Amino acid sequence: MKTILVTGGAGFIGSHLCDYLLAEGHKVICMDNLSTGFKFHIKHLLNKKRFRFIKHDVVKPFSIKGNIDQIYHLASRASPVDYQKFPVETALSNSIGTNNLAKLALKKNATLLFTSTSESYGEPKEHPQKETYWGNVNPIGIRSCYDESKRFGEALLMAYHRSKKADIKIVRIFNTYGPRLRPSDGRVISNFITQALSNKPITIYGDGKQTRSFCYVGDLVAGLVTMMNSRFIGPKNLGNPDELTILELAKKVLQFTGSKSKLIFQKLPLDDPTKRQPDISKARDLLLWEPKVKLDEGLKLTIDWFRMLPMIK
Ligand code: UDP
Repeated sequence: MKTILVTGGAGFIGSHLCDYLLAEGHKVICMDNLSTGFKFHIKHLLNKKRFRFIKHDVVKPFSIKGNIDQIYHLASRASPVDYQKFPVETALSNSIGTNNLAKLALKKNATLLFTSTSESYGEPKEHPQKETYWGNVNPIGIRSCYDESKRFGEALLMAYHRSKKADIKIVRIFNTYGPRLRPSDGRVISNFITQALSNKPITIYGDGKQTRSFCYVGDLVAGLVTMMNSRFIGPKNLGNPDELTILELAKKVLQFTGSKSKLIFQKLPLDDPTKRQPDISKARDLLLWEPKVKLDEGLKLTIDWFRMLPMIK
């Protein structure tokens, strides 16, 4: 049994990770400032002996008593709408927050896994994106609070690793979806499903020809744990290479919800990448990990979950 700290543990991916680690028999300390996370996601865990919740912002100093074996740092706003509303907080959770966790990892002799992002490739000139691609990022653009701070987080941890032998892992997470996505987070899958279920127009930004590749949250969590327990530092891409256009996604959501919503076309947000698809050869060959859940299956599970939410009905 390991003691594992999950920052952002009440968030979308973090709460699924807490579930997974507890089911594996570990002790889990979940830290979250509840800015975009919800206590609702972890309420079934609060009375468990091996689970502890600490409401805290990773940017502010903190100490934790006792031993910690592993740290997963997921605390950061991740939806473009969210992080553009709180750009400073986002930039700091990936920089100062990562620094606080690197210091904690050194002190506790723990392994620290940092969740970086496909956004570190920016508007990619290489497709699909391999880990060796350095990216094409606008350093002062409206997404830079997120993509540049994730890139800085990677750089900072490599510096800790090289100069202080910190035990670190870096993964780059591509678009992820599933139950516990926040309905109002502004991301494409949450928007399309909430719009379809309430028969409101589906908002396509731009012409809808831009592509994304969506990974089901259960697959992603398995990838995080596999990476943490591997001998690799990374970075490793984690995502599902099954790529489709946003227009194709909208049609699937309409089909699976049986909605009568119309498609409407709105302005494409600034610096919105035109394409994104992970090359996961490294994860496949070295971690022996690959996603299993097909988009159709995962979308249906996600739609079922959204249907249960009282706020949408
Ligand atoms: N998008 C859209 N309609 C929406 C929300 C998003 O067409 O209501 C598009 C967005 O412009 C982008 C893609 O869907 O091209 C994915 O957006 P999201 O915010 O989910 O994440 P991103 O991959 O851009 O970080």
